Amino acid sequence: MTTRWSRAQSEAARQGLDALLITPGADLRYLTGYDAKPLERLTCLVVPSEGDPFLVVPALERAAAEASGVEIALETFGETEDPFQLVASLLPSATSVGLDNHMWAERVFAWHDVLPETAFTTAGTVIRELRLRKDAAELEALREAGETIDRVHARVHEWLRPGRTEREVGADIARAIVEEGHETVDFVIVGSGPNSASPHHELSDRVIEEGDPVVVDLGGTTHAGYCSDSTRTYLAGGTPDPQYAEAYTVLLAAQTAQRAHARPGVTAESVDAVGRQILADAGYGDLFIHRTGHGIGMETHEEPYIVEGNELVLEEGMAFSIEPGFYVSGVHGARIEDIAVCTADGLAVLNDRPRELVVL
Ligand code: ZN
Ligand code: ZN
Repeated sequence: MTTRWSRAQSEAARQGLDALLITPGADLRYLTGYDAKPLERLTCLVVPSEGDPFLVVPALERAAAEASGVEIALETFGETEDPFQLVASLLPSATSVGLDNHMWAERVFAWHDVLPETAFTTAGTVIRELRLRKDAAELEALREAGETIDRVHARVHEWLRPGRTEREVGADIARAIVEEGHETVDFVIVGSGPNSASPHHELSDRVIEEGDPVVVDLGGTTHAGYCSDSTRTYLAGGTPDPQYAEAYTVLLAAQTAQRAHARPGVTAESVDAVGRQILADAGYGDLFIHRTGHGIGMETHEEPYIVEGNELVLEEGMAFSIEPGFYVSGVHGARIEDIAVCTADGLAVLNDRPRELVVL
């Protein structure tokens, strides 16, 4: 069986790297299954371009690493040993090494100290080639994540109503994200009234008023480590402002067109352009102030980014959000967000809640 680390190994060799050093984070979990804690003591996967990989762990973390089911040889070190020297002694001839993109700066400097002749670069160019195209198990995990967050959106009416604060509603939603099956709550955005115009507003003590548009953007992580991310815009009773309703209709048309367009063979930037053009033609171009989307997998935001300038051609197995929005600062805003994945000949959308403005 070709393991993920062996594919990383081949890709590293192809890119001229002698080894990859991967510290705790999504890359480590992706390659080994070990969801290691980011501690001050070093945990580091060493993937040489030739030979077997090994995982350096503090002696006191050995049991935790073994319990995770990791099938890679462990090299442990004691409290007074220097793990950086240990790794350096095992990579005596490495001239070019890739470090995971999110490695702490203090570790980057430590590698420079123990391997002064070695050139370092980021390992992201190697790992992206793997993580960019999801395999069947990953797609199943993303599907489960999508269904879980859909069940939460289906219950938003239980909590979202005039007279409650965003924070109260958000606390109920956060509980439901776990109740419905996610292991962790990654974010809960409840942007009501003028707060709906701030794309990454989280929660405040603002009391929701009747007729407020409310942007609810939710995400969590499953036990398998895969993320959900879905936005729906609700109306807290009453009737929408006519101008708002008109803009929302255009937004829905834009998001629908983007879902119809995205498939293998089209560029990431073309998915953005299709929706942006529809909003621009209706006079709302300036109000769509962010890219259309981001890849998703073991991280909520990863490649591919659905943004102007990204000429990447979409392929089967690529998963990403489609989330156009419009934002009138200090007044109101809206966003519709689904996670979608390219299939062999089209697009599977992993979120299925109604996309119209949901009047509660
Ligand atoms: Zn989102
Ligand atoms: Zn998103």
